Amino acid sequence: MKAYKCSECGYKSITKKYYCPECRATAYEIVDVSGDGTVYSYTTIHIAPPEFADLAPYQVVLIELSNKLKVTGFMKDKVNIGDKVTIKEIKDSTYVFEKVS
Ligand SMILES: [Zn+2]
Repeated sequence: MKAYKCSECGYKSITKKYYCPECRATAYEIVDVSGDGTVYSYTTIHIAPPEFADLAPYQVVLIELSNKLKVTGFMKDKVNIGDKVTIKEIKDSTYVFEKVS
């Protein structure tokens, strides 16, 4: 998956920011990062907005990637904190993860 890396200090973020939160530079490059990680926290959504209704119930998960970046995503699987996951797809700029068995 793609991440944004600050050209000045190397700070990495999954989401594009207007400026680097570390050094306030605005130049960045796009780098590839691993989509593997572990579940850091999650919330189960039972009543979904219309665009996600066919997914419900689903989990909104905060994933800590293997490189320590954190990213918010969706999971259809039931999860627990500490579960190993990997990115399955990026759908409408939403990250969908699945469990690694
Ligand atoms: Zn920076």
